[in-house]
Amino acid sequence: MAPGRSAPSRRARTTASAALLFLAAAWPASAQQKNPQIEAIVGAIQPARIEARIRRLVSFHTRHTLSRTDSDTQGIGAARRWIKAELEACSKAGGGRLKVELDSFMQQPQRRVPKPVEIVNVVATLPGTQSPERIYVVSGHYDSIPGGDYSDTQAQAPGANDDASGTAVSMELACAMAAHRFDATLVFMTVAGEEQGLLGSAHWAEEAKKRNLNIAGMITNDIVGSSTGADGSRHEKTLRLFASGLPTLINARGAALEQIARSGGEADTPTHELGRHLKEMGERYVPGFTVELIPRPDRFLRGGDHLPFLERGYAAVRFTEPSENYRHQHQFVRMENGVQYGDLPEYVDFQFVANVARINAAGLASLALAPAAPRDAGIEVVQLENDTTLRWAANDEPDLAGYRVVWRPFGAPLWQRSRDAGNVTRLTLPISKDDYVFGIMALDRDGNASPASFPQPWRPGPVASPMKEREIRKDAIVRAPVADVWNAWTTKAGIESFFAPEAVVDAKPDGAFEPHFNPYATPGLKGADNMRFLSLQKDRLLSFTWNAPPHLAEARTQRTVVIVRMEPAGEHETRLRLTHTGWGDGGEWDKAYDYFDSAWGRVLANLQKRFTDGPIDWKPWLESLKAQKK
Ligand SMILES: [Zn+2]
Repeated sequence: MAPGRSAPSRRARTTASAALLFLAAAWPASAQQKNPQIEAIVGAIQPARIEARIRRLVSFHTRHTLSRTDSDTQGIGAARRWIKAELEACSKAGGGRLKVELDSFMQQPQRRVPKPVEIVNVVATLPGTQSPERIYVVSGHYDSIPGGDYSDTQAQAPGANDDASGTAVSMELACAMAAHRFDATLVFMTVAGEEQGLLGSAHWAEEAKKRNLNIAGMITNDIVGSSTGADGSRHEKTLRLFASGLPTLINARGAALEQIARSGGEADTPTHELGRHLKEMGERYVPGFTVELIPRPDRFLRGGDHLPFLERGYAAVRFTEPSENYRHQHQFVRMENGVQYGDLPEYVDFQFVANVARINAAGLASLALAPAAPRDAGIEVVQLENDTTLRWAANDEPDLAGYRVVWRPFGAPLWQRSRDAGNVTRLTLPISKDDYVFGIMALDRDGNASPASFPQPWRPGPVASPMKEREIRKDAIVRAPVADVWNAWTTKAGIESFFAPEAVVDAKPDGAFEPHFNPYATPGLKGADNMRFLSLQKDRLLSFTWNAPPHLAEARTQRTVVIVRMEPAGEHETRLRLTHTGWGDGGEWDKAYDYFDSAWGRVLANLQKRFTDGPIDWKPWLESLKAQKK
């Protein structure tokens, strides 16, 4: 036997044993240390105060969103005035930094809302000291319903569990945290209109989206009051956490979803990472408790106030008790065959609610003390190799200490291994990226760790960038010579023959390219008002700026780019390719994308038709516009 085969080279042996040692390194003790400030906050949760508040909320008889507001003791008006006064007292006791406000709006009639009603959220904000623009929200809904068809605004609706329990948690957190300072901003909400369709939280989330707020995480506590199942089983040490960000991605579509699908990241959206963070922190600071992490947005047939946040692209999760008893949810208070129905305080375990508040406190405090999760996390996919190289953008918090890379095998729900990387923005590990899921956390000098960021595939250079450009592409064969198709796109008569009934066209770079789809509209709303040619190469290429239709007012303030290329295809035909690019993503960007994805198909069909059947007759279109105007 050759010597080289009987004994592996020294270098190979060293590398192999280093990798083994490396893999054997468990979650380091430093990653599990407790922060005394978080321990103090968790220790400040008061079960007696939670019980008193749940009983007080029940005492308002009903908190139906359409119940009376003119009484000091009955109905939703009295309830919210009391909540506000309680939070103001906590603010005062905590030094006055907690800002308590009402967020109110008029809800017009819709399903479950028979008449216009003012919906009021009570919102307490504790501004961050280092990164106030980064916001974490916790909420419970203070409205209740008695049962039946949602319309009875008079009947007793104690709502002790659904959701005085979550309301008391939100209030308790505000009070326990009011005197503390956090890097990021905390918002403690109690909202109304939940039972009518998540109306209060949807309003707040929509305003946040419009103002482009950075909501880094949202938690709703809804039905967190009972530790006893319908069969009498006891679950005092378990809490469910529903956390899945996939619906958000599916709504947004686009490049982000594609990257997730290609890289096995379907269990690692920001919402999933928020769930992992809350489970880890909750169990660290409330020993003996299990947070069951469920990768679904909510229970079947149910919804909660986190959903409007999820739908708007924010990471949002829901805490709910482990085993629900439907005799005590959405039921008229009554005895039936010796069985008590109704959402009464007798069925609330106040110690359990206090533990839920402690778990929330640990999670929220750790989030708001830690740096933001790293941005632009990437996993290098440059060549075939057995190592894994991760990269990310540097955080800008002044107390940043470094980063932690974590990983787990596929199929494992939680991070299993970690390595502190120091203050670098790139790290290579001697394990295969094909076999594990990775995450990157940011650490501050006190050891507070952010939730993980999932690394997207990263390649150098513009062509293979992970930020793949989204585009609409339409191809068409037009039965006309290239010169005729060119004229159709670059002259007023040409545009009016297939594209729009009226046009301003000045075919030169920066010249007008303004098809007016509605000549009767006020200037600025006729269609492609103020659009411009960018480039023209006769018989081959033209490009122009483009805007969204007036019904997408927000997207319409932006500009995209349309490129039209043409070439001869046979003797009397032209092959045409239209590319529409420069898209943002989310919200109206996606709506505009969808709109043009079908609109350009119709435009090119009209172009084809123009050369087979003659110019488009705009009379019926103009008549219908006139009729609408009348
Ligand atoms: Zn509820």
